[in-house]
Amino acid sequence: YENRMKLEFDSRSANEGFARVAVAAFLSQMNPTLEEVADVKTALSEAVTNCVVHAYEGKVEKITVECMIRGQELTVLVEDKGCGIADVRQAMEPLFTTKPDSERCGMGFAFMEAFMDSVEVESKPGEGTKVEMRK
Ligand code: ATP
Ligand code: MG
Repeated sequence: YENRMKLEFDSRSANEGFARVAVAAFLSQMNPTLEEVADVKTALSEAVTNCVVHAYEGKVEKITVECMIRGQELTVLVEDKGCGIADVRQAMEPLFTTKPDSERCGMGFAFMEAFMDSVEVESKPGEGTKVEMRK
C-alpha cells in the first residue's frame, strides 16, 4: 500500500461522526467524487454502529478503524473485540437482525455491500468481528 492510517476510539455513538469525518479526510488524497465520499461514509457508519450496538451492547470498549490506499483502491477495516457473530452468512442477509424490537431493520450489511465494491466479514463468537470493505 502507499498510505495507511489507524484510529482507535471508545465505542460511544458520539464517536461515529468522528470516525466518518476522519476517514473522509484521509480519503480526500485520492481525489474521490462526492458520491464516493458519501458511499464510504455511509458504509463506515453502518460498520461502526454495529460495533457500538451489537458487539459491545452499550458497554464502552475499543473500536479500531484502519484505512489503506493502494493505487485507486481504498480498504477500510473496522474491528471490535465484542460478542462476535455466530452465523455471518445469515447476519449479512438483508432484513436479518437480532434486535427486531428496537429501531434496527437489518439493513446495515446490505448498505455496506451496496455502497462498497466488496465486504468481507470475519467473526468468532466471544472474540470479535472484523469487517473489511474495499472501494
Ligand atoms: P440496522 O443496521 O439496519 O440498524 P442491524 O444492525 O440489526 O440493523 P446489520 O447491520 O445488517 O443489521 O447486522 C445484522 C446482524 O448482524 C445484527 O443484528 C447483529 O446480530 C449482527 N452483527 C452485525 N455486526 C456485528 C458486530 N460487530 N458484532 C456482533 N454482531 C454483529
Ligand atoms: Mg447495523
